[in-house]
Amino acid sequence: MPPMDAPPGGAPARDLLGRRLHDLRISVTDRCNFRCVYCMPAEIFGADFAFVPRAELLSYEESARLVRIFVPLGVEKVRITGGEPLVRRDLPDFVAMLSAIPGVRDLTLTTNGAALRRLAGPLADAGLRRITVSLDSLDPEVFARMNGIGFPVSRVLEGIDAAREAGLAPVKVNTVVRRGLNDASVLPLARWAREAGLTVRFIEYMDVGQANGWRLDDVVPASEIVDTIGREFPLEPVAPAYRGEVADRWRYVDGGGEIGVIASVTEPFCGDCSRARVSAVGELYTCLFGTHGHDLRSLLRGGATDDEIRASIVEVWRGRADRYSEIRSDETEGLPRVEMFAIGG
Ligand code: SAM
Ligand code: SF4
Ligand code: SF4
Repeated sequence: MPPMDAPPGGAPARDLLGRRLHDLRISVTDRCNFRCVYCMPAEIFGADFAFVPRAELLSYEESARLVRIFVPLGVEKVRITGGEPLVRRDLPDFVAMLSAIPGVRDLTLTTNGAALRRLAGPLADAGLRRITVSLDSLDPEVFARMNGIGFPVSRVLEGIDAAREAGLAPVKVNTVVRRGLNDASVLPLARWAREAGLTVRFIEYMDVGQANGWRLDDVVPASEIVDTIGREFPLEPVAPAYRGEVADRWRYVDGGGEIGVIASVTEPFCGDCSRARVSAVGELYTCLFGTHGHDLRSLLRGGATDDEIRASIVEVWRGRADRYSEIRSDETEGLPRVEMFAIGG
């Protein structure tokens, strides 16, 4: 196997801005049982919306092959996502395939938690070590409104308990904060997580895709979130655990754990962006705000060798100059953008 910095083709797998490839997010479906207002608004993604037909999705074998191809390029961290990954049948089989791949040091999954009560045990048994659960409010009404289908928050909390009992540790919680919807939920969530010994990462609402009607006024800046929590529980900054960590970490001065804030809008971190994303149909995206993906499925199904596919990935990565969040402006506003549920956040 070639050294990490010298993939087939010779030169280092660095993009035009000198960034390495380190993380891979792999989507297993574009479907979801929720209709979160900031991701898949129910009025747009109704019963007649055409999701990707089954035959077009990468099989688990194809996705696992891609992960094996990515590892020698420097990928150590793999996150399974979607849509909602837990709605894809037999997901633990896929986890078992990925957990057996040498070089995948960190395998995790992001879920809305709706099916976690049933699946936490099988996922842990298949080799998953940790998990991220999205949870936007503890208030039943606010949560029901945000997930767009009236799903009860109690079921997600039971899912989090099941994940902890299954030994998925740590369980991280992701909260997207949208002005006027759940800004009042920030402090109760922080208080709950402190008591439960969990870390919440508060995420600024982003202009991903074109369906959510994003407006800058709806973004609650990370600094405001830190101030809100810090007034009740004083906080101090923590140094990043590694280069490219997207969350700014803050710890409670009294030792009560920590929070993270992801300030993708107010403090972009494109300079350290080391993530590749593969959609459920096998398109490679190098930015959350990409206009189109690079088709890997045709290579997978067209008889290309692993080396040929790896060379194609390297070529895409080397040509990458994405820095959307740093250049967000009136000029980027009208550009077509892939939807979040297609590439997994
Ligand atoms: N369905 C799973 C879930 O919700 O956890 C995984 C896929 S979801 C697209 C991944 C993450 O993206 C979730 O934590 C979700 O809250 C976040 N997300 C979706 N739309 C967003 C937006 N417009 N701005 C910021 N985060 C968003
Ligand atoms: Fe589904 Fe996740 Fe998007 Fe919510 S954020 S609609 S749970 S994919
Ligand atoms: Fe990476 Fe694109 Fe986000 Fe910048 S905007 S951090 S390049 S995904």
